[in-house]
Parts: sequence; C-alpha cells; structure tokens
Amino acid sequence: MQLVFATNNLNKLKEVQALIPKHIHLLSLKDIGCFEDVPETQSTIEGNAIQKTEYIKANYGYDCFADDTGLEVEVLNGEPGVFSARYAGEHRDSNDNMNLLLKNLKDKPNRNAQFKTVIALHLNDKLKTFTGLCKGEITKTKQGDQGFGYDPIFKAEGYDQTFAEISLEEKNSIGHRGKAVRLLVDFLSSLR
Ligand code: IMP
Repeated sequence: MQLVFATNNLNKLKEVQALIPKHIHLLSLKDIGCFEDVPETQSTIEGNAIQKTEYIKANYGYDCFADDTGLEVEVLNGEPGVFSARYAGEHRDSNDNMNLLLKNLKDKPNRNAQFKTVIALHLNDKLKTFTGLCKGEITKTKQGDQGFGYDPIFKAEGYDQTFAEISLEEKNSIGHRGKAVRLLVDFLSSLR
C-alpha cells in the first residue's frame, strides 16, 4: 500500500517510516511531484491537518496523512495555538516567537501550557484524526540548545529540564508528536 505523508521534512518521514508496518510504503510530497505550498489556512490545528490531507487527495489522488502542531498556553486562552509557527510574524523565527511568548507571560503566575499534535488520515475515502498532547509549563528563561521551535522554554510535567535539554528519544517517548504517531501506527497496524 502506498500512503503519502504530506510533509517536506525528510526526518519526520524517515522516523515514521521506521515505525509503520512494512507493507505500507510512505511517499513524500516530492515523490508525488507536489512542489507548491500545501494550504494550511484553517483556524484550528485539526482543521489544518485535515485541509492538508484533503488537498493532496483532491489534487493528486493519493491516500494521505498530515500533521499539524501548536503550543497552547492556558492563561493566553490557548494562544499561540494554530499560529505557533508565525506567532511573532510571517518570518517564522523561533527565537522571536519565544521572546514574544516570554514577554506576554511576564508577571503571570500561571504558566501552564500543552503541545498538541493532530494527525489527519485520509484512507479509503474515510477521514480519521489522532491527537497527541503533552502537558507542561513555560519556563521564565530559555534553557538548552537541542530540539527546535519552543523546546528551550517548555518543560513537560514532572521534568526539571526543558525539551531542549533532554534527548530526542526521551522527548519522543513523552512528547505530543510521538503520542499521535503511535496512535496512527496502531491504527494502520490493525488494518491487516
Ligand atoms: P508544525 O505544524 O510541526 O510545523 O509546527 C508548528 C510550529 O509549532 C513550529 O514552527 C514550532 O514553532 C512549533 N512546534 C511544533 N512542534 C514542536 C516541538 O516539538 N517543539 C517545539 N516547538 C514545536
């Protein structure tokens, strides 16, 4: 079975290919000749994940899955959420995004936040979504230099170190994306 993973991130593709059943062969956007930006213009994380899979099915005819992630901060009513990548502007700079978030949380005692990943799967004309959450809090300063995005200012519940200070294996085992991917893999494995 061929299934498109609507991503240009080859690391994500490799990671997921290693986890899914061997009879499912993953294709990247490049593999199917999709070089344009896949639209993600919805107002929710779920909406964006679904929009990406529907775009691929409608324009390229492939069964497909796509992921979308956001950081939801309790005291900011779930912001930056769907706007996580461009919180500080369209230039999508992680440092600027973190600085703005730290500024907006200055003097706020409640620093609870969660990462949320939604994977939408469009398979055999049916749509399914898989959600992975990771609860934690926003630190007061940046700590660590591993990972990406908001990792230096996010500590998962029960951890003293930020996502930028723990190993990738550890982050995957407790993190939002890892959880959503495992739900997808369990579902695909159950189809045999
Ligand atoms: P995407 O949907 O995976 O592209 O994620 C959207 C934005 O959320 C990224 O640009 C990052 O700023 C942020 N983000 C997503 N996943 C993570 C993560 O695992 N750690 C830190 N930031 C993340």
